Amino acid sequence: MGLVVQKYGGSSVADAEGIKRVAKRIVDAKKNGHQVVVVVSAMGDTTDELIDLAGQVSPIPAGREFDMLLTAGERISMALLAMAIKNLGHNAQSFTGSQAGVITDSVHNKARIIDVTPGRIRTALDEGNIAIVAGFQGVSQDKKDITTLGRGGSDTTAVALAAALNAEVCEIYTDVDGVFTADPRVVTKARKIDWISFGDMLELASSGSKVLLHRCVEYARRYNIPIHVRSSFSGLPGTWVSNEPQGDRKVEQAIISGVAHDTSEAKITVVGVPDKPGEAATIFRSIADNEINIDMIVQNVSAASTGLTDISFTLPKTEGRKAIDALEKLKPKIGFHSLRYDDQIAKISLVGAGMKTNPGVTAGFFEALSDAGVNIELISTSEIRISVVTRADEVNEAVRAVHTAFGLDSDSDEAVVYGGTGR
Ligand code: ADP
Ligand code: ASP
Ligand code: MG
Repeated sequence: MGLVVQKYGGSSVADAEGIKRVAKRIVDAKKNGHQVVVVVSAMGDTTDELIDLAGQVSPIPAGREFDMLLTAGERISMALLAMAIKNLGHNAQSFTGSQAGVITDSVHNKARIIDVTPGRIRTALDEGNIAIVAGFQGVSQDKKDITTLGRGGSDTTAVALAAALNAEVCEIYTDVDGVFTADPRVVTKARKIDWISFGDMLELASSGSKVLLHRCVEYARRYNIPIHVRSSFSGLPGTWVSNEPQGDRKVEQAIISGVAHDTSEAKITVVGVPDKPGEAATIFRSIADNEINIDMIVQNVSAASTGLTDISFTLPKTEGRKAIDALEKLKPKIGFHSLRYDDQIAKISLVGAGMKTNPGVTAGFFEALSDAGVNIELISTSEIRISVVTRADEVNEAVRAVHTAFGLDSDSDEAVVYGGTGR
């Protein structure tokens, strides 16, 4: 029996009962002969509450202190979990990200892992302990400051430790039975996927399926670590994410893997940009210099008579203020007309490797949206994904319509959501 890394999300450890339930599951894995490393998230919505609290004392909290605050959430759960395991008669030791050797760059609030040196975890395991590691955090290589990896970052901690410790699997325990063909909170007829390739999972994750964080999938693909996403509540087998189907199960790659949606983005339109070389470069250089990641971009055809064009792009709502401030500064230089900010948008994406070889998927997607009366504002595509932007208040209906149109509805069990607030 090898080493397993298990990650428990916030909804799985939302209260003392949850922590005790998870402790039993961890002890079972240990009793089955595994060496067990556990990565744990903050309890329930603790991280959101800490962010709200910071906002009450400062409108723009300093990155270093903000990270120091947020990592407290995971420290609470790691210590409680270790206590609960000890109470069951097994040895456990908890470690902060820094103690576990999670080394990052120094970009506060969204640091990247650059090295993992889990010497203390190895020692703890060799001494017969279950090692509990606080997720979503590390220490910066240069300044030795505490950093966080961005929302949902405990998934990345788990895969990074699994890679560094050469684990046989990284198990991600959450509040649903695996990865479904759509978010089970929106589509009750969503179907559980038994196996999905890294490539399709990466597209789903980066299109808003927050059951796995895209950075975690990227990391797992790079180091070829199979991920098993499953529920900490039901014990049912979940979804395998890997290069190839696991074991001797013959699972066909689906044409369409699923529908993802994302309401965390906003749209900025720069109105009346002079249509000459260099203006788009100036706009997006300034956005990049502010470390803002953008998603879709559209530039309208210039109206010949005016020589002006509009450029729209989408970005995380959390970066909206920063982007508007940066663009306002460019106004005298570029001479654009105005800026429009719209945070009532949603992105809906259809993902599947089979798209490449099945003409008609795009047409079917647009027809389903049109039949549901949903207007499309922006479109972008990759080889295995089509995304559109629509109004936010139409998103649930649109996702259900597309799910049905592509024959993804399950005719048996409804997808179960065991916990969490979906926040
Ligand atoms: P955790 O607290 O365990 O990290 P998250 O809230 O980050 O859990 O992720 C689990 C949630 O992801 C589910 O409750 C579900 O609402 C959402 N989700 C979105 N898309 C999907 C999908 N395709 N399959 C399963 N869950 C999804
Ligand atoms: N607690 C952090 C968050 O809520 C990290 C995580 O749960 O993965 O984003
Ligand atoms: Mg998560």
